[in-house]
Amino acid sequence: MAGMGDPSEGGFFGHYGGRYVGEPLVRACQEIETAFRDAWADQGFRDNHFRLLTDYAGRPSPLTECVNLGRDLGLRLLLKREDLNHTGSHKINNVIGQALLAKRMGKTHLIAETGAGQHGVATATAAALFDMGCTVYMGEVDTKRQALNVFRMELLGATVIPVLSGSRTLKDAVNEAMRAWVSELEDSHYCLGSVMGPHPFPWMVRTFQEILGEEANAQCLTLLGGMPDVAVACVGGGSNAAGLFSGFVDYPEVRLVGVEPAGGAAVGRGVPAVVHGMKAYFMQDEAGQVLEAESISAGLDYPGVGPEHSHLAETDRAEYQPVTDGMVIEAFQLLSRKEGIIPALESAHAIAWVVDNAADLAGQTVIVNLSGRGDKDVRQVQDLLGS
Ligand SMILES: *Cc1c(COP(=O)(O)O)cnc(C)c1O
Repeated sequence: MAGMGDPSEGGFFGHYGGRYVGEPLVRACQEIETAFRDAWADQGFRDNHFRLLTDYAGRPSPLTECVNLGRDLGLRLLLKREDLNHTGSHKINNVIGQALLAKRMGKTHLIAETGAGQHGVATATAAALFDMGCTVYMGEVDTKRQALNVFRMELLGATVIPVLSGSRTLKDAVNEAMRAWVSELEDSHYCLGSVMGPHPFPWMVRTFQEILGEEANAQCLTLLGGMPDVAVACVGGGSNAAGLFSGFVDYPEVRLVGVEPAGGAAVGRGVPAVVHGMKAYFMQDEAGQVLEAESISAGLDYPGVGPEHSHLAETDRAEYQPVTDGMVIEAFQLLSRKEGIIPALESAHAIAWVVDNAADLAGQTVIVNLSGRGDKDVRQVQDLLGS
């Protein structure tokens, strides 16, 4: 599969990407790139990765047709069920890949940032499995919003460090994780959670997430005898969307839609900037300060989007659409009631866009990546609904 295409030698997708970090991290990133190229060319490594994804994480995830909601909306609605993976989201696909790579590089410790806690939980899980140390940086605000995930990470043996700088959310957790990594380069691998950061992370993370797109492509062929009309995924940094899009990007007739929170629309409201080691779209104020993303889902509270999405947007291969928190809460309840599937608030963004655009999509076949399950969000929604 040609898929999304490899970045240039400097790590650029069109104008976006690169490796804008200080000297020690340039060297660390080069080492990771070399190790990743070597590992990915090694069938033994790939077999091992695939075996863990099946025997441990539960792949392949099913493709579920939503008969009830599809009928109500007047379209054919298919869900790629990443919510059924071990640890409850697509994050495990990437984490197992990076943990295996870190082990191969002789590292003994994993560092991670987390927003809602899903990536932190997945990283703590892999660290337990591979007998590695694990430190997770999490904005203090998020540690309160997602207290249960903090306890989960601790149960798994990780140390969770609340980040007190800036807005005390995901953006600040990334800064803090990078800072910690610089001081522990010898033993530690920074297990980045999305298709962002300095080269090779955006490319490597997408490559580890391609499995979900490949499966979705094959499952659509079996079920539909061809491709869907539209492929939809929510976008924080963009890893679940990149995984899904990779399965359909070679089919020009498939419309690719990334859904952003209206309060964190990095593509819709952003401009190119260099932040967190990459050039990509970020929301900024007039003085060039990066704005805080604001949405009900901590997992989408990132003011930027990865370089490959920036490129897909600029070249019009994919489109990026906003939905409001109110639409998301409605979609969260609608999918629960109509299909018996409680989605993560992040994933509910993708559902919300389909619901809102049902009239335009009438008669079409739409695949939505259900990136995660909603257990972690039930309490928050209960509070919001005041019940
Ligand atoms: C982390 C997360 C996201 C957002 O991250 P991407 O890199 O944009 O995929 C979306 N959905 C769920 C369930 C998540 O845990």
